[in-house]
Amino acid sequence: MEKLNLLYSRSQIAHRVRQLAEAINRDYQGRELVLLGVMKGSFVFVADLIRLLDLPLAVDFRGLSNYGAGQQSSGRIVLTREPTIALQDRDVLLVDDIADTGLTAAFALDYLRRPKPHSLKFCVLMDRTERRQIEIPIDYWGFRFKKGFVVGYGLDHAERFRNLPDIHCLENRD
Ligand code: IMP
Ligand code: MG
Repeated sequence: MEKLNLLYSRSQIAHRVRQLAEAINRDYQGRELVLLGVMKGSFVFVADLIRLLDLPLAVDFRGLSNYGAGQQSSGRIVLTREPTIALQDRDVLLVDDIADTGLTAAFALDYLRRPKPHSLKFCVLMDRTERRQIEIPIDYWGFRFKKGFVVGYGLDHAERFRNLPDIHCLENRD
């Protein structure tokens, strides 16, 4: 049996997303941004974040898949969608739902440096630190926590729970 425990409510999330947007607006003032969401987990976060950004902005998504259906990082990262916007000389902000081992972000950042963007930063809603295997530069983070598998607000477990408006910790019960 699975049990959901509320971790961050929709109003806590909205408040934090507003703060992140303010920081991004400030840092990129006078520039044009390419915001690249990582599919699929970031789509709710991206949708809320971009509506608070007061900048000329292009949005695209890239598909990267790490987990399959389990709760452990597989370490195998599969590219499932390429961005279609040219990134050379652009200010690129990669946006993901959660950083865990860091392998997905490290892979994505490495890959995104190849087309030689003018700048490349990383924004993540949830930063879970306990299982980090590789150091990644996180420029903007929403919630930093140590452990627990989280779902809701775009985050899934085996494709379920993405539609929940709040973020919950998923407990497995036998
Ligand atoms: P990493 O490569 O281990 O950092 O894993 C990052 C990716 O795994 C994220 O982009 C998520 O798609 C997925 N993931 C990691 N932890 C969770 C979680 O607690 N809930 C839902 N998805 C997760
Ligand atoms: Mg993901």
